[in-house]
Amino acid sequence: MHVVPTTDRVLMGPGPCNPYPEAVAALGRPMLGHLDPEFLAVLDETCARLRTVFRTGNELTLPISGTGSAGMEAAFVNVVHPGDVVVIGVNGVFGERMCDVASRCGAEVVRVDAPWGEPLEPEAVLAAHPSPAVIALVHAETSTGVRNEIAAVGAGKGDALLLVDCVTSLAGIEVDIDGWGIDIAYAATQKCLGVAPGLAPLTMSDRARERRVERPQSWYLDLGMIGKYTTGGQARTYHHTAPISMVLSLHAGLGAVLDEGLEEAWARHQACGEALQAGLEKLGFRLFAREGNRLPQLTSVWVPDGIDEAAVRRTLLVDYGIEVGGGLGPVAGKVWRVGCMGHTARTRNVTLLLGALEEVLGR
Ligand code: PLP
Repeated sequence: MHVVPTTDRVLMGPGPCNPYPEAVAALGRPMLGHLDPEFLAVLDETCARLRTVFRTGNELTLPISGTGSAGMEAAFVNVVHPGDVVVIGVNGVFGERMCDVASRCGAEVVRVDAPWGEPLEPEAVLAAHPSPAVIALVHAETSTGVRNEIAAVGAGKGDALLLVDCVTSLAGIEVDIDGWGIDIAYAATQKCLGVAPGLAPLTMSDRARERRVERPQSWYLDLGMIGKYTTGGQARTYHHTAPISMVLSLHAGLGAVLDEGLEEAWARHQACGEALQAGLEKLGFRLFAREGNRLPQLTSVWVPDGIDEAAVRRTLLVDYGIEVGGGLGPVAGKVWRVGCMGHTARTRNVTLLLGALEEVLGR
């Protein structure tokens, strides 16, 4: 006998979110071979849908088989040559992680730090080095709930390639790969795309492809080979067995987003974030991320003094079925992270959480 979860949770942590019903249903479709023409047609359409959601004409746009971290690693190993100067903005866990990944590629990492909860200053990022090979930023810092400005860095990047983590931003707030001059970006399925974890959508400009590392240190994440398999058309050659069911699910999840309308999906995330942030303030919580750069899809709040934060989150989970995330790094135990992403981003979930909190905290 195996024990499997049977109760639904309202997933209001930093991810995964509750997937769209269409994405869940697609997981149960009959298995297809990974070279079956029907599967390849779905894969091609998935790449086309990703181009729409990323707002790009990049031919090399595909789902990497692996979670968001595989997307991060694929982005760096394919464009960072040993000795390259890579400027990285760090104001949370994921910028920090980029530094680790870039240094493993042999990069000379130039960090630009901002305090947790504050956004990075685009001018500071651009002034960090006169001629970096790559500038890397996290658009939506999941560890702090802060949105970093990308467009201004894209406008001033000069000859550098701009690499952006869109894991928590894609399909939740505006992302404009071509309009903002982003050369390589990656995301993850389990956040605002509203699909289970397991794939990392990635897109790469022709400019970045021209500077690609010929033989990246990772065989599995070599975009030269994956690109031929995934978006290969005539020249499609086998690279690995695609996670068929996950691709079918991503295809369906993207369908749900595009049926709703990308801008309508952003507006829904915005409305939920605003309602949640206003409601939390009304209950006496103080918001953590700086006003003006707060993400609607990931709200960070200081835990009020005098409450056992782990116990309250456990009560929310066990008694109300609501998951809320704890803090990371320097704000562990001090901050909560509340997600409203994908299918979870519904005002009824906001109302449910605020009501539950009111009961639990007795306010
Ligand atoms: N980048 C950001 C901004 C994230 O929030 C996460 C995960 O939460 C990752 C990268 C890594 O993604 P994954 O956990 O899917 O590997």
